[in-house]
Amino acid sequence: MGYERYCYICNGPLNNTGIFTVKNINTFLKILNLLKNPKHKQLVLYTSNECDVIPELLRLLIKENKSKKKLEKILNYIKTLPKDYITISLKKSPKYKWLNKLILLHKNGNNIKIIKSDSWEGEFYDKDNNEYFIGNNKPNKEDDFVIIHQDCYNLMNKNKNFNYNSLKTIKNKPNKYNTQDIYWLRYFINKDEYLLKSPLK
Ligand SMILES: [Zn+2]
Repeated sequence: MGYERYCYICNGPLNNTGIFTVKNINTFLKILNLLKNPKHKQLVLYTSNECDVIPELLRLLIKENKSKKKLEKILNYIKTLPKDYITISLKKSPKYKWLNKLILLHKNGNNIKIIKSDSWEGEFYDKDNNEYFIGNNKPNKEDDFVIIHQDCYNLMNKNKNFNYNSLKTIKNKPNKYNTQDIYWLRYFINKDEYLLKSPLK
């Protein structure tokens, strides 16, 4: 089964394919709070395909809110949707481009530029199409290689000669975003959007 791999240095996602639907996050949260069932709230927050979040949220709200007044509120909200929300592809936004520029640190001390990757399957390829497979989402010193962002590499390489063997000073700290799927929307809902920005900016 697939499982997203994350950057060893910053724990950030290794691709920028996410799509999120958020322009007015505060309005979204207000409406989300109308949901009575905590399980339903979780369902909306942790949905990985953000394109489906808004229709799913509305479906749940209508199901849960029988009172005419609340239903009216929800229906009015639906009318405002086109101006409150836009679907943005992270791929099209220049500030997220750094996420899929990757460097592989090989146990033999080589740092290999990755040209093509599938962070869900753990497959990373260099310019000669050599494949490097990373088997789990929490790399440790036992792995033959670790994968990091080019920008994280540049940050760490300020003192030069940064490679696999330098990692002994780095602790891998799993966080709440280091999950099987990348829950893109959660970064924005939790106002942790900065985690998706390059450490060099
Ligand atoms: Zn990183």
